[in-house]
Formats: sequence, C-alpha cells, structure tokens
Amino acid sequence: MTTTLQDCRALDAQDPLRALRELFLLPEGTIYLDGNSLGVMPRSAPARVADVVTREWGVDLIQSWNKNGWFTMPGRVGDKIARLIGAAPGTVVATDSTSINLFKVLSAAINLSTADHPQRKRIVSERSNFPTDLYIAEALCKERGFELVLVEPDEIAAALTPEVAVLMLTHVNYRTGAMHDMPAVTAAAHAAGALMLWDLAHSAGAVPVDLTGAGADYAVGCGYKYLNGGPGAPAFVWVNPRHTDRFWQPLAGWWGHATPFAFTPDYQPAPGITRYQCGTQPMISLAALDCGVDTVLAAEALGGMAALRRKSLALTDLFISLVDERCQGHGIGLATPLDHAQRGSQVCLTKDDGAYAIVQALIARGVVGDYRAGDAGQHKDILRFGFTPLYIGFEDVWNAADHLRQVLETGEWRRAEFNTKHAVT
Ligand SMILES: *Cc1c(COP(=O)(O)O)cnc(C)c1O
Repeated sequence: MTTTLQDCRALDAQDPLRALRELFLLPEGTIYLDGNSLGVMPRSAPARVADVVTREWGVDLIQSWNKNGWFTMPGRVGDKIARLIGAAPGTVVATDSTSINLFKVLSAAINLSTADHPQRKRIVSERSNFPTDLYIAEALCKERGFELVLVEPDEIAAALTPEVAVLMLTHVNYRTGAMHDMPAVTAAAHAAGALMLWDLAHSAGAVPVDLTGAGADYAVGCGYKYLNGGPGAPAFVWVNPRHTDRFWQPLAGWWGHATPFAFTPDYQPAPGITRYQCGTQPMISLAALDCGVDTVLAAEALGGMAALRRKSLALTDLFISLVDERCQGHGIGLATPLDHAQRGSQVCLTKDDGAYAIVQALIARGVVGDYRAGDAGQHKDILRFGFTPLYIGFEDVWNAADHLRQVLETGEWRRAEFNTKHAVT
C-alpha cells in the first residue's frame, strides 16, 4: 500500500509528541535531518545564554560560582542526562568533550583491568567506529603497551579472547545507523572477562538506553547531537558505581579533587563521578546544554524515551518505504538495518556515485542531511539522514523523500556547483 502526503498529514495530526516541535526555533523553509550531527537550537537557549552572560557573569561575577550554582552545574546537568540513559543520580557528569571523556574512561578501564588481570592487554573495537574513538584508543594503547584490535560487527564475539581487557563500542554506528544489542553485547564481554565501554553519541536522547540494566562498566556521550546542547556542547561521562571509587582517571585536575578549595599540593580524588571532572567548566555552554537536555526531558510527560522511540521508528520506517516506492531506478541502496531492534534514529542510503552531490543538491532545496565518505573496501559512500522525533514530523519525511526523488529524476545533482567539496562534509 503506498503512502500519500495526506496520510503523512494525518499521522502528524495524531502525533502525541507534535507539540514538542514548539520547543525549537526551526529555520523557515528547512527540513532539518542532521540533528545527529548538530541538534536544533531550543527556543529557550538564547534568553538563557543571554542571562548567564549579562546577569550571572556581568553582574554577579565571581559570586556566581555559589550564587548561581556554577560549581555544581556539571553534576546537575549530568543528573538530567542520567534519566535518559538508565543511570542513577550522581553517576553522570556533563563535562569536556566526548574524545576527552573517552580518554579518561578508557584509561580507568585499563587500570581496573590490569589490577585484576595483568595478562589482558588488548582493546577491541569496530573498524567502522567513529574515528576519534579509534584514535584515542590507538594513542592510549601505544602509551600503555596495549594492542588495539579492530573487527567487523559480526566478528566481535570471536574477538573476545582471554587477552581482551576492554570492549569499546559505539552503540549506534554513525555511518550506518546500525544499533548493537546493549544487554547482549555487554553480557558477552563480561562472560569473556572484559570490561564494556559504550559510546552513546548517537544514542542519548535518540533511543532508550539502560546502562544500569545492561550492567555496563563505562559510558561517554555527546551533548550537541540528539541532546540539542549547541555547537561544541560539553559531553558526558558515566561510570558504573561499582567501579567509580576504585581508580581515578589520569586527567586529575582540581575539579576532580575531593577538596578543591583546600588547595593542597597532592591529589585526592573526590568520591564518586566528580573525580571524572578535570578543570574549570564552560558555564555558557553548560547553560545551553541544560536547555537542550530539557527539550528531551519535556517528552517525559508524554511517554518519555519509549514514546520518542516509537515515533523515531515510525519516521525512519516511513522514509525507508517512501524512498523505496518513489526513488527506484537510481541505484539507491539502504545501509541502515530494517530490523527495528538494530536501528538507531537515522537512515543511511548508499549510492556508488554522486552521493556527495545529491546531499548538496538536497541542502540547496532546504533538506539538510549529510554525506559520509566510503572507502575502497566494503563501505560505500553514504547519504545520512537523522530523524529527531522531537521536531521532525511525518510531512517533513514526505517532503524530504520527494525532494530526493526530484533531485534524482532531474539529475540536478550533476551540476558543477554541487560537486565541489567543502572542508566540513
Ligand atoms: C560525534 C561523535 C564524537 C565526537 O567527539 P568530539 O570529542 O565531540 O569531537 C565521538 N564519538 C562518536 C562515536 C561520535 O559519533
């Protein structure tokens, strides 16, 4: 049965999450399918940031650390994020970047594993993991005399040998949108005696996550994607409370100290997740992130992450079927799994030639997705479309697929202007 524009409008009319779109300032004439790279600005953010600048900084100045709660901000925003990822209060801090937090938790995981199992000197990850994760792991392995072993998703189980200290995976793959079974993979890592570290960059605020239920060991995630925290927003870090106080991480700055204002010359780590902080945090950015996290928490009254997930799957199902029905004959393939249990909140299409130019032609029409380059091997060029159920509707999906159809049918993507690469793709 084919879907019509009227069907999509009817779905929007029935959508219980429809009102959440009003929490965002969506640019006129844009269908924004890149919330997996940079989430849309919350309507509350400009006034909140202006208040932090003009009143908290401008007037209250140094007193703001106490008076306006600046000092406790990483933990307070962390507690809000915790509600979205199945973490207990007091186990998450919003701080630093994903790359830096990965360095901290991977270091702590190596220390923890080495204390109990000194013979384990391997970190396993996926070859198609986001490169910064692999670069951080590679650098740390060199420094600590470890080996980084990269495998394909179907080779993970076989790679969990007695040499493995840590299995480090990104829950939802940034290129394909494929999602791991977090409880099953965590259990497999533990059965093999390895620690489990999850990167939730494409999961937090996008799909339900239960770190506690899965019994994972460490997690990091991103603030500027589905949490809508703004460009370069602080990331977050979670450590299972059973490990937190056993080791500290090597970026032992004063914000992770037990008594930072005692100014002692020696380092005493704070109890709990506070020890995963390093130095002074960016308050303006944290305020914007707080606004972003609040947009996701606003769904709690409407069914929370389960309701967001239902809508996200309905949106991605619709996009997949519309592309299948209406864009045939142009060599478009699907990289994202059809199985709901294996799909994040994005749809990735493949095309042997012209993927970059098609994305550029779509952007010129106001349909903003992005392009991720393939490689000479098994990974094809990708046209990537993120579907944030907070602000994307079913009519948007119809229109996006229709623009794609027109770009393909007219061949307008072949125009020279769409075939020049920019620095940031
Ligand atoms: C987006 C993303 C990052 C980003 O890291 P930064 O330190 O914020 O640049 C890291 N890992 C994964 C898996 C991502 O998707």
